Amino acid sequence: MILAALMVIALPRYYYAVYSGRVRGCQAQIKVVGTACQAFYARNMVYPQTVEEMCVETAPAWVVAAPLEAVPRCPFGTPYELVAILQDGTVGGAAALDNPQVGVTINHWDHFEGSWKLSREHIR
Ligand SMILES: [Zn+2]
Repeated sequence: MILAALMVIALPRYYYAVYSGRVRGCQAQIKVVGTACQAFYARNMVYPQTVEEMCVETAPAWVVAAPLEAVPRCPFGTPYELVAILQDGTVGGAAALDNPQVGVTINHWDHFEGSWKLSREHIR
């Protein structure tokens, strides 16, 4: 009886601790991707289109000094998607000559409901 009561209290706390630990881990990874985007832009003068483009092992030949050793992984397994920020302020569209890409953001909604700003890095 006491054990059952303890389980009712302890298990949700345990699962919540695991969950919030993973969310913090994901935020840290997003920061790593954000910093890598800035380093990538500084060296290549273009924004990366994918996370793989910034990794030593998966970067195409034209990439100068890929800033990441390996593809950062979300603890929940959701891939990190890069999205273009265009000059007119739109996010996710295709860049054009009269509306060039001026930044990149990370598309990663899962497990950040209500705190979307925390979950993404704007790199301009
Ligand atoms: Zn995540």
